[in-house]
Amino acid sequence: MYAGAGMWDKAKQVRETMSALGIKKIPGIVNVTVKSFNETTPKARWVANNTDHKEYSLIEKTLMNMFALLKNNGYVVDRRWLLQESDNPDECFHSEMLAIAWALVNSPTHTAIFLSKNLRICGNCHEASKLVSVLYGRDIYARDANRHHHFSDGKCSCGGYW
Ligand SMILES: [Zn+2]
Ligand SMILES: [Zn+2]
Repeated sequence: MYAGAGMWDKAKQVRETMSALGIKKIPGIVNVTVKSFNETTPKARWVANNTDHKEYSLIEKTLMNMFALLKNNGYVVDRRWLLQESDNPDECFHSEMLAIAWALVNSPTHTAIFLSKNLRICGNCHEASKLVSVLYGRDIYARDANRHHHFSDGKCSCGGYW
């Protein structure tokens, strides 16, 4: 809009703010797998708002239960991140959350979860992953566009810098 009106400085500023928040036009895609003992079990690929996935209603229900548990344990959604992929004003339905819910459904307790994402992980999903690691007893290994994260026991190996 600013660019169209010839207000280049303003447009540049908006673009910089958007990229600082991780807002991009390409959709977030997460590949997920779960590993139990020395065997690698099912894999899935999640795109934000992937409602036509065959397990979607189960995953959505799991995700809502998961968010309720997280909120009881201090999780608060920061709305500044929500523009990135999801249109839901109240929840972070980003692909990594769908992927984690899928992994919770498809693997036994304490199974580690492995994710790789084409974009930078958002602040809400980062916070949620820390809480899932402690509340569900799951180690989560995530590779995003910038770096590796290992969520374990309520903390991330990146120390909050990514
Ligand atoms: Zn998110
Ligand atoms: Zn991290």
